[in-house]
Amino acid sequence: MPDERKTLEQRDQMTDLERLRHSASHVLATAILKIWPEAQFAAGPPVENGFYYDVDLPHRLSPDDFEKIEAEMKNEIKANHPFERIEVSRDEALALGTKGRLAALSERSAPSKFKLDIIENIPADEKISLYRNGEFLDLCAGPHVMRTGNIGAFKLTSVASAYYKGDEANPQLQRVYGTAFKTKKELDDYFAMLEEAKKRDHRKLGRELELFVFDDDVGPGLPMFLPRGAVIAEELEKLAKETEFAAGYQRVLTPHIARESLYLKSGHLPYYADSMFPPMELQDKLPSLSQPAGFQPDEEEAEQDARLPSHAGSVTSDRYYLRAMNCPHHHKLFGSIPRSYRDLPLRLAEYGTCYRYEKSGELFGLMRGRLLHMNDAHLYMTPEQFENEFNAVNEMYLNYFKLFGIEKYLMRFSTHDPSKLGQKFVDEPELWKQTEEMTRNVLKDSGIDYVEVPNEAAFYGPKIDVQVWSVIGREFTLATNQVDFAQPRSFDLRYKDRDNTEKIPICIHRAPLGTHERFIGFLIEHYAGNFPLWLAPEQVRILTIGDDAKLLDYARSILNELRTHQVRAEIDESPDKINGKIQRAEQMKVHTMFVIGKRDMEADAVSVRVHGKGNLGPKPRAEAIGEILQAIRDRRA
Ligand SMILES: [Zn+2]
Ligand SMILES: [Zn+2]
Repeated sequence: MPDERKTLEQRDQMTDLERLRHSASHVLATAILKIWPEAQFAAGPPVENGFYYDVDLPHRLSPDDFEKIEAEMKNEIKANHPFERIEVSRDEALALGTKGRLAALSERSAPSKFKLDIIENIPADEKISLYRNGEFLDLCAGPHVMRTGNIGAFKLTSVASAYYKGDEANPQLQRVYGTAFKTKKELDDYFAMLEEAKKRDHRKLGRELELFVFDDDVGPGLPMFLPRGAVIAEELEKLAKETEFAAGYQRVLTPHIARESLYLKSGHLPYYADSMFPPMELQDKLPSLSQPAGFQPDEEEAEQDARLPSHAGSVTSDRYYLRAMNCPHHHKLFGSIPRSYRDLPLRLAEYGTCYRYEKSGELFGLMRGRLLHMNDAHLYMTPEQFENEFNAVNEMYLNYFKLFGIEKYLMRFSTHDPSKLGQKFVDEPELWKQTEEMTRNVLKDSGIDYVEVPNEAAFYGPKIDVQVWSVIGREFTLATNQVDFAQPRSFDLRYKDRDNTEKIPICIHRAPLGTHERFIGFLIEHYAGNFPLWLAPEQVRILTIGDDAKLLDYARSILNELRTHQVRAEIDESPDKINGKIQRAEQMKVHTMFVIGKRDMEADAVSVRVHGKGNLGPKPRAEAIGEILQAIRDRRA
């Protein structure tokens, strides 16, 4: 929340880059004041890809002003002023603000109104500090870089309007955005990456390559996959099924909806209600004992009638929810059969369909939608089995990363905050300690890249968010991996242990391939639509040079052979010139083309063209097809 004041703890955790960017916002304010000394500043935090400073200024800022502002910023950086910290009393701070001296180069006739308001909101026990660089003095808790000269390279990027503290009742300010890096090279790389990311935008490629669409009548956030997109989902599902089968998972199938009572039990209601679609109210009329005349119940129905409750015939109302997560159904399956320690670990897997009510302003293509096909599984185990299971799950993540050429990733290990037990986190101090300790040990021992983030665990246990970077360096949060000791308890899940006592299993929720929606969105951008053969919507297109009947027969026999082997092959029989056909196939990023002329036919051969690689020359038909099949089987990159 950029508009919220950062806690001291959060400030301590600011990375070097965040310090640098936040320092750049002080330099930005300095520069604006050199040009417009009357400017009034509000908040200037670092944000995801840079920083901003909110400013109240009669002059309407536009990118045309950036050159002038950047020139002043360069001067301030060149001057290499130290960022000097000055601690003051509340009264001193208020006095300076009244004289217009805060977020200013000198005293001014108008008070520093936003800074005065900010001072009022600083907790009484918190020290108040100012930071000075050159003439610029600002109210700020820090931290900063040592000197303005430490800001290696920066650029202003945009200006937008924003309400003070994000509240429409407050005055509207101008928010000037910029970014900064340690070196010019990093800055240039960042803008080159943005340029490339624009070309790879999954919404743009999704349309051009006919992968998926949205439709107003279907609803926002509800993507529909066209045939070319659906095959990618199917290939991913096949991969998951094979991988999970080999790892001892078992598949289950459960409904997309459930009664309210399930989510009351799981604890998702009422806490999670905002993220769920509103319930469906059902008026269920229970079957009546008195049947209409002429009705002859068969034996089975008669038996059922005998078991009808006494209130039969009355109307009961019932609430059903579209599910937002698969766990409760899976927990019910675990609990449906008496379990012994011999059944554990039990690994239940399903590509579960979920619906989440994301606010329409937050919807973003496939990345954030209301429909999720989740690569879900729930693993139930004894505490002794935890380490092995958790390790195996991590291994699975790493193997997938290798397969998809994901070289940079980070696991964010979110733990609980003991002071918030019973509110934000289930009140089980011992279990928190135990599971966090176990998780930490596994992460350490396996040498996986991870950071520990306190106070961000799930309600019911520590979790690991997996962030990955695409080949062009764009960051995505793909999957989570959660340890859960609370839900098995609330669902009263038990297994009979060796000593004949009943115990509660630990559960791991995991979804290495995330959801189809988000993972496919990621893959589109990662591969820029140039999918490896095994994932390519159209693996082979056969292009004939001319439309001679014998040639077409030859081409069709190749098509049939490919399809018999489950290769997604098409044929372009149009009368167009071969160059036009090739261009069309290249546009759709078809992986491999078999170009067939008379000479190829006579030699029982095909001329192979691979998208992005060009012409590979003629090959005997059997060899060309054999290579395609092998590459698909190997899921070769
Ligand atoms: Zn500051
Ligand atoms: Zn789950």
